[in-house]
Amino acid sequence: MQTELQRRAYLRAMGIDVWIPRDQAEPESDAEVTEAAVVDLDWDGLRAAVSGCTRCQLHQTRTQTVFGVGSPDADWMIIGEAPGAEEDRRGEPFVGRAGKLLDEMLRAIGEARASVFIANVLKCRPPNNRDPSADESTACRSHLERQIELVQPKIILAVGRVAAHLLLDTDEPVGRMRGKVHQLGATPLIVTYHPAYLLRSPSQKRKSWDDMCLARRVMSGALA
Ligand code: URA
Repeated sequence: MQTELQRRAYLRAMGIDVWIPRDQAEPESDAEVTEAAVVDLDWDGLRAAVSGCTRCQLHQTRTQTVFGVGSPDADWMIIGEAPGAEEDRRGEPFVGRAGKLLDEMLRAIGEARASVFIANVLKCRPPNNRDPSADESTACRSHLERQIELVQPKIILAVGRVAAHLLLDTDEPVGRMRGKVHQLGATPLIVTYHPAYLLRSPSQKRKSWDDMCLARRVMSGALA
């Protein structure tokens, strides 16, 4: 059931002013209220919350938020790091050179961009393509967690260090995490190299192909 706090946070996320009598003011900070509300948002509400988000400084420099793309009923969920310049301009994740490579990786295992769901840890572009800060990842975390809850993917592919570290709460190098089946709750999670890294280090593409095959075997039930 929706609480009053969640209703107010939802309305705020939709851009609707909420007037609260002084004697009913919430004890929680704005950030806490919004965190509480996100766990109950549906897909459209979550999209609205992301597009109006001001939880971290990145809202000041973004052109637009990048919610994610694909099917909300997808079996596969691909999670990257953060939008780059092209993604910030177009409002869609993985549309630059790294995105083209990601599309090829997906095509190679028989999946299309529209049949998976692609999201990032951050929904806003860090200026100059710097790494997301810990504060930014923490501020955005509940958006990604709610996306995962709503999509209920059968498998998650974490591409690159930032996504793998956040989702698995570790700081192990990607080279040590790849090649294994991890779990995010009940959902199998495979770590592989970020396509931008593969563009710089094409000799690692062979390993990322092995990771894609591992993910496909998990999906087919061969490794259950
Ligand atoms: N790199 C990412 O991690 N995500 C994007 O959307 C684009 C590039």
